[in-house]
Amino acid sequence: MLKKKTITLFDFTEGHAVQISRVIAEIKGKPSGPTVFFIGGMHGNEPTGVLALKHVMREVERLQPLLRGNVYALAGNLTALERGERFIQNDLNRVWHADQVERAKKRDFHPTEIINEVEEQIELWAKIDNIMQNSTGPFFFVNLHTTSVQSVPFVTMSDTIMNRKFVSKIPVPIVLGIEEYLTEPLLSYVNELGCVSVAFEGGQHSEAASVHNHEAMIWLSLAYSGAMKQIEIPGFRKHAEHLKLSTEKNSAVYEIRSRLGIEPGQMFQMMPGFVNFQEIKQDQPLARLDGKTVRAEEDGMIFMPLYQAQGSDGFFTIRKIRRFWLGVSYVFRRLKLFRLLRFLPGVRPFMDSDETMVVNTAVAKWYSTEILHLMGYRRKKKRGGLILFMRRKYDFKGPRNR
Ligand SMILES: [Zn+2]
Repeated sequence: MLKKKTITLFDFTEGHAVQISRVIAEIKGKPSGPTVFFIGGMHGNEPTGVLALKHVMREVERLQPLLRGNVYALAGNLTALERGERFIQNDLNRVWHADQVERAKKRDFHPTEIINEVEEQIELWAKIDNIMQNSTGPFFFVNLHTTSVQSVPFVTMSDTIMNRKFVSKIPVPIVLGIEEYLTEPLLSYVNELGCVSVAFEGGQHSEAASVHNHEAMIWLSLAYSGAMKQIEIPGFRKHAEHLKLSTEKNSAVYEIRSRLGIEPGQMFQMMPGFVNFQEIKQDQPLARLDGKTVRAEEDGMIFMPLYQAQGSDGFFTIRKIRRFWLGVSYVFRRLKLFRLLRFLPGVRPFMDSDETMVVNTAVAKWYSTEILHLMGYRRKKKRGGLILFMRRKYDFKGPRNR
């Protein structure tokens, strides 16, 4: 059913064509070390991560004797990359529901269901699964993306302590809580398996600067995962400095406050001129949806405004989290204070487990979201007046991580 595919991309930073297949590089080092995955091009109109992987992996091949653990560079949606489109029939980064992955593993699809993205998912997961079954971990996933809007580079991730630790020295803004709003990105799926898992947004699609930002992120990730020592990486300080400058020294931590979703068939248009992380004021007009003006619900910043035809996230709003609260939440989780949540009015554990809390919003409206976020409960499902908050299973370390 599946055949090996190789596509040709034009490397606009080096001025020549490059051949890309699912596995861009697979470099094995000393057995005692992490397994680091880089994935570029989950969206086909985001080739810069793939180009950066091609460049950096060329160097890492040469440095292989110094490598601890294994490094894999994978390409996401090959057919979409070839056509320069975000996806062909379905967004490859929104299909990572556990049931769907299980079907991909078993190749359990009716022939009429086999669209491009199903094939891509089957192949990509087969590769990742195979590597994970044959490695001991710890596992690090770095997913390379770009945005349609002009942006400084930044990281999005689930708020687990192991993710925080990994990115703590990466000098870019960090945005927490996106998984509450996105349908099943690969990021969340591997995070649930107990891996460190972050998405790096390297800048705007098809900009040379984005390629350089991705390159810097790849090198820093190799160092901070423990796969290489900083002093063994050529120009390490230069890469760190490069990211610092390209983010205008912004390494603050933000949380998502709201998302404007676009349903199929709706007419969405962002007001012109927004850049990522731009400050907004309450009631400020942000976009038009089906002829109506959408205004900001509160003061904050605009995040990932959509300026392209394909996509279902119109924009997000974010707010800065103070360092103090990050410290508090670390201590609370270390002391397992989430066990006390069940004694708060309006909050009760679901099926007697501390993993999921049922919150009655009529009783616990003012404090619930803030406290639960602090304790590491992020995802929520609404059921009438009740909201389910779920804790990440693996917070401080994964199941097989040393
Ligand atoms: Zn993307």
